[in-house]
Amino acid sequence: MDGYMESFKHFATEAIHTGQEPEQWNSMAVVPPISLSTTFKQRSPGQHMGYEYSRSGNPTRNCLEKAVAALDGAKYCLAYSSGLSATMNIAHLLKSGDQIICTSDVYGGTNRYFRRVASEMGLKVTFVDCSDVKCLAAVMTNDTKLVWVETPTNPTLTVIDIQACAEIVHKNTGAILAVDNTFMSAYFQRPLALGADICMYSATKYMNGHSDVVMGLVSVNCDKIYEKLKFLQNAIGAVPSPFDCFLCNRGLKTLHLRMKQHFQNALTVATFLESDPRVSKVIFPGLPSHPQYELTKRQCTGVSGMITFYIKGNLDHAKTFLQSLKLFALAESLGGYESLAEHPAIMTQLSTRRGQSSSKNQRQS
Ligand SMILES: *Cc1c(COP(=O)(O)O)cnc(C)c1O
Repeated sequence: MDGYMESFKHFATEAIHTGQEPEQWNSMAVVPPISLSTTFKQRSPGQHMGYEYSRSGNPTRNCLEKAVAALDGAKYCLAYSSGLSATMNIAHLLKSGDQIICTSDVYGGTNRYFRRVASEMGLKVTFVDCSDVKCLAAVMTNDTKLVWVETPTNPTLTVIDIQACAEIVHKNTGAILAVDNTFMSAYFQRPLALGADICMYSATKYMNGHSDVVMGLVSVNCDKIYEKLKFLQNAIGAVPSPFDCFLCNRGLKTLHLRMKQHFQNALTVATFLESDPRVSKVIFPGLPSHPQYELTKRQCTGVSGMITFYIKGNLDHAKTFLQSLKLFALAESLGGYESLAEHPAIMTQLSTRRGQSSSKNQRQS
């Protein structure tokens, strides 16, 4: 891990400049234009300037993908129409009969996709607590082709040792390790540098950071994995719109500033909550009370704004608290400039246990 912390050094410069060169446009535009054209003129049949049709490649998307690749210390990045469509594209690297191992405490939509969609298409899905790497090692088989972890996990903020997982996943197998880096963002954690093969984001959260875009991002270093994913990105077609790419690319320009402030604010709030007698437990990886505080310090350059805490009492007390908030909106999602609060068991995690919901009271996120 020598040099891991130093690898973040030119983060802001990369976010602002990589892939954004004005020389790529005839107009010399300093800010990448929103390229809405769905198709691109060819000189002669098959002879084009790098773009043919907007699903297979788009100039605005290309700017975003280059910037994100730089921020992840990656060779390549691919953008998708949502975090879950990025997950679906990764799952399509596998074939029927292959096994996915997924850490047990995972984003509700990821759990639902693996359990209720991927497994219906012939993939074997095993959930196990990957924060204990012995458990991961115990369920690896010859059929294991993908190991999926998220760290810190949602909603219990358990920190998983990416480097330790990578060692197990790559030992005598051809399996790949994918890390959902949504909660940390590229600013605080670089899974590829810790041995992961795929770094995935719901860019809907911190990477875009303004709660106005739904998007997914995937960064990789391996040429072979990239070629397959690039093929699938076009063949499946779940690509983001040029306008969303423009917004997310713009969001990246302040990622370093936003993440620093999220960390500082969350540390203040978590410290306050920990000292309050009405709170029974605070889970925040930036506090020494967190069980994986030392691992967090090794693996992350900071901690994002996600805090989990338990209020003394019962569900009614929790509901009263949430309904009494003045500045925090009671809403799902995270990573925007605004502050949100939610009750996972009732809100984000419940959707994974439900079928297709038609009633408007039923949540599908
Ligand atoms: C929101 C989220 C996702 C899903 O992303 P969408 O953009 O909503 O499709 C995946 N993983 C984590 C950790 C998330 O928070």
